[in-house]
Amino acid sequence: MSRFMSERFAGLHAYTPGEQPQDMQYVKLNTNESPYPPSPEVLERLNVAEIEKLQLYPDPEGWALRRKLAALYNVGAENIFLSNGSDEILNFAFLAFCDETHGVLFPDISYGFYPVYAALYGITAKQMPLRADFTIDPQPYCRDEGMVVIANPNAPTGLELPQEEIARIAASNPNHVVILDEAYIDFGGTSCVELIKQYENLLVVQTFSKSRSMAGARLGFAIASKGLIQDLNQIKYSTNPYNINRLTLAAGEAAVDSQAYYTQNCAKIMETRERVTAQLRKMGFTVLASVANFIMIRADWISGAALYRGLKEKGVLVRHFDKERIRDYVRVTIGTDAQMDVFLEKTAELREEAKARAKQ
Ligand SMILES: *Cc1c(COP(=O)(O)O)cnc(C)c1O
Repeated sequence: MSRFMSERFAGLHAYTPGEQPQDMQYVKLNTNESPYPPSPEVLERLNVAEIEKLQLYPDPEGWALRRKLAALYNVGAENIFLSNGSDEILNFAFLAFCDETHGVLFPDISYGFYPVYAALYGITAKQMPLRADFTIDPQPYCRDEGMVVIANPNAPTGLELPQEEIARIAASNPNHVVILDEAYIDFGGTSCVELIKQYENLLVVQTFSKSRSMAGARLGFAIASKGLIQDLNQIKYSTNPYNINRLTLAAGEAAVDSQAYYTQNCAKIMETRERVTAQLRKMGFTVLASVANFIMIRADWISGAALYRGLKEKGVLVRHFDKERIRDYVRVTIGTDAQMDVFLEKTAELREEAKARAKQ
């Protein structure tokens, strides 16, 4: 930190993104991207004619894409907010809905960005422990104490909180916003989008980064009551009105037009997830029952850190969180069948090596 940085940020620990090696030599299963490319419609849409329009600013309201999303999710276009990745919505929400008297509550094991936003804005954060089986106990979120942020399915566990529990949390927080981060909802979970019609405090956040194969385009969206969308716009127009570039808006429209393609990709990823889960369990791994495009796994014969390192040495990149309770695990993104076969093969090699060492 230089001597010019405000002292406000002296203790700030920024978010550490998963590794993005630029030489592309790894089987990359560490940041939950889709292993499949964007749809043919997206590739076609990003043509020279679209690039030529880059001299003009994009539509700051993004109406064309909002109308398409509204039709897909059966809400009004005024219920949709577009953002530069869904991280931006979380950022805006912490800024808009929290302050000295309104703190934030989220699970102790969840998306690593939540505590960073709380620290950035000096917001008091209460981290509620997950149960021993890594599921969320809804009770502590039902006290109308502060903004609630829940990833559903949760990351990095992949476990889902049932819709009726989400409804209970929304109903018991009449004075606070409840954010439901549905980044991984398209891989087998039940979306709570329809609940926004009943609960004006419910903000459902989704992204094009995972199920829609567009992590590089940076596009997220929120679905909520008109009032909450207006609040987010208030923040957006006070920071960066053109937060989504033209090419990303165009790609987003084409992506929503090719919903069937993405549904098929998600089905394939879920099928691969079940196959890999079964094989890992056969090899003696504990695998949490994920409804996301990743799995949390652990085994008694190897530590999480050693599994991460061993796989990396063999060219497979997974994610390890050096954090209490999940230190023994690694998180593995579900890739193509071919990628997962390499992962399984390298994992089996590590087990053989461990057995050989134990015999010595
Ligand atoms: C990936 C992810 C996001 C953010 O994705 P964007 O690329 O910023 O849209 C948000 N929440 C969770 C839980 C995630 O895993």
